[in-house]
Amino acid sequence: MNTATQNQWILVTGGSRGIGRAAVQRLAKEWNVVFTWCQGESAAHEVERACAGLPGQVESHQCDGRDEQSVTRLAADLLERYGAPHAVVHNAGITLDALHIHQNADNWRNVMDTNLNAIFYWNSQLLEPMMMQGGGSVVMMSSVTGIKGNSGQSAYAASKAAMTGLARTLSVELGRFDVRVNCLLPGYIDTEILAGMPKDKLVALRKTIPMKRFGKVDEVAGAVAWLVGDDSTYMTGQTLILDGGLSA
Ligand code: NDP
Repeated sequence: MNTATQNQWILVTGGSRGIGRAAVQRLAKEWNVVFTWCQGESAAHEVERACAGLPGQVESHQCDGRDEQSVTRLAADLLERYGAPHAVVHNAGITLDALHIHQNADNWRNVMDTNLNAIFYWNSQLLEPMMMQGGGSVVMMSSVTGIKGNSGQSAYAASKAAMTGLARTLSVELGRFDVRVNCLLPGYIDTEILAGMPKDKLVALRKTIPMKRFGKVDEVAGAVAWLVGDDSTYMTGQTLILDGGLSA
């Protein structure tokens, strides 16, 4: 790994698209970054190419966060090669929307496995080494939907709300080891999810946001960089909301 980044590395799950991609590109300005992807191999390679020339080295691995064995295998390989990470950004996430009374059990489990259980699998491998190295930062990509009801998103909301409880508990358990754990709660961010929505719905949605615009992936990436960096070293167990005032 690159000495310009003090040999520190950061894991970003789901770094091949959207917010995760922006986070990888922002973090690689200061740190080495390892990111995972699930199905989008070509998108992952495109991110690696886009990061060529940045101070941090960037490498990607296919790793389905729902598969505990895959996570365990990759974590062991990374720990052996690079030691404990400086930070972990739990970003990978999906939503499979339906009114709760129509929610399909497979979809419910898929959302929980991807958004929440994967965090447990990664944490089980990486938190102890971070404690032993004397510190680090964990960022979970929750959502404003975890604190504000949104029809059709019961599984997504439950998974995102669980992250805030997990972050608070971990901050209490890990504070004395200087491992900080915080959640980011973005509102509507301009990613492929929004691009796929009908135009009239987008216009109506934008009107509900006090700042009258959707967030940009780089605005979320900037907050991620702040949470893993030296300017937030006394912050743990907190939720940082980035929603243009939607939940205010
Ligand atoms: P995208 O759909 O653009 O990207 C999702 C990323 O997660 C991709 O890199 C995808 O990889 C990866 N991923 C999906 N499933 C898995 C899996 N099983 N294992 C590993 N990686 C997986 O999402 P966004 O950028 O929009 O969202 C990123 C995070 O931010 C999510 O947690 C989301 O809930 C949260 N968020 C997003 C908001 C928004 O408005 N966009 C608002 C609030 C929160 P691949 O393509 O290879 O499958």
